[in-house]
Amino acid sequence: MEKKILVTGGAGYIGSHTVLQLLLGGFKVTVIDNLDNSSEVAIKRVVELAGDFGSNLVFHQIDLRDKPALEKLFASTNFDAVIHFAGLKAVGESVQKPLLYYNNNIIGTITLLEVMGAYGCKKLVFSSSATVYGWPKEVPCTEEFPLAATNPYGRTKLFIEEICRDIYRSDSEWQIILLRYFNPVGAHPSGYMGEDPRGIPNNLMPFIQQVAVGRRPALTVFGKDYNTKDGTGVRDYIHVVDLSDGHSAALQKLFDSNIGCEVYNLGTGKGTSVLEMVDAFEKASGKKIPLIMAGRRPGDAEIVFASTEKAERDLNWKAKYGIAEMCRDQWNWASKNPYGYESPDSSN
Ligand code: NAD
Ligand code: UDP
Repeated sequence: MEKKILVTGGAGYIGSHTVLQLLLGGFKVTVIDNLDNSSEVAIKRVVELAGDFGSNLVFHQIDLRDKPALEKLFASTNFDAVIHFAGLKAVGESVQKPLLYYNNNIIGTITLLEVMGAYGCKKLVFSSSATVYGWPKEVPCTEEFPLAATNPYGRTKLFIEEICRDIYRSDSEWQIILLRYFNPVGAHPSGYMGEDPRGIPNNLMPFIQQVAVGRRPALTVFGKDYNTKDGTGVRDYIHVVDLSDGHSAALQKLFDSNIGCEVYNLGTGKGTSVLEMVDAFEKASGKKIPLIMAGRRPGDAEIVFASTEKAERDLNWKAKYGIAEMCRDQWNWASKNPYGYESPDSSN
């Protein structure tokens, strides 16, 4: 019998790539998403790329906070596990609108957990973030590092992690894996799926991509006086396909062992500066990215990269791709879909 997985936020960037992997791995997948930051076109493309497995995907446009809708869903299907991606993720917006973030991310998660518990579905994979390490005092970041949040978005991740640890303490039937993603970038190698943020991108790679396709004139580099190899901030970029594989590995762990509540970093363990990333993207795309050197972005850490040992050991998972492949696939997606899923001239 195929296992049935509920994926919240499955129309989004990381969710859509993971749903495709799950389908190809033989799972039956139900996606719920309110499409606040995504397009139903992503779901259509997942179905096409999944070929014969595409018919194992069901999509419902549902908001996570709509408890009756969730109850109806759980009453109709016995899910074996839930992967919970749904949430708002823009750091700057979270500073402007903290209640929106607390309401959406925390109330949404509590509602999901309540319904899961009531229907006896107690296996969960949750999208946490390296943001919970705040400004790390040293690198690589291990899972045991002290936790700190520097903005409301980060606090929602921290609170949800703590909520998960609490529900496990109260009921050891729960099995929960908290995945702390580092910096997901890249796209499906087909060029048919990728990241399509609404509005002005906050993150480095979508911004570079929009400069490369002519939607924005230049990239503003936030800070050139960090104590790093070239003065710009250093992060651990991870290919979205590797990240999706990490979710398959986490699910397998939930099904194969009695894990309790565990946390794993998903990163490559390598640090890359802003200028190195720009250089790699220019090489992959053949496009020049004009730069404006500016001051530091408030709240930004200097150097963040992951210790990958725990995930390698326990999940038997390791990232395969480097920044050349991340930039190649990002450019393939961008050049075919310069306006994302709404591109009028999308070659797909
Ligand atoms: P995304 O915005 O592309 O996907 C999130 C999806 O959740 C969107 O499709 C959105 O419409 C949906 N959603 C939001 N609120 C909802 C609600 N109340 N009900 C139903 N659907 C809702 O983001 P992503 O990059 O794919 O990120 C997925 C998860 O991973 C998020 O929780 C994010 O915080 C986390 N994360 C992302 C990054 C990153 O850099 N992309 C890094 C660390 C952690
Ligand atoms: N960055 C930048 N210009 C941008 C966006 C990001 O110079 O328009 C830098 C940012 O200061 C950081 C790195 O790129 O050093 C990664 O930023 P991103 O927001 O993608 O990830 P995060 O800081 O959340 O890890």
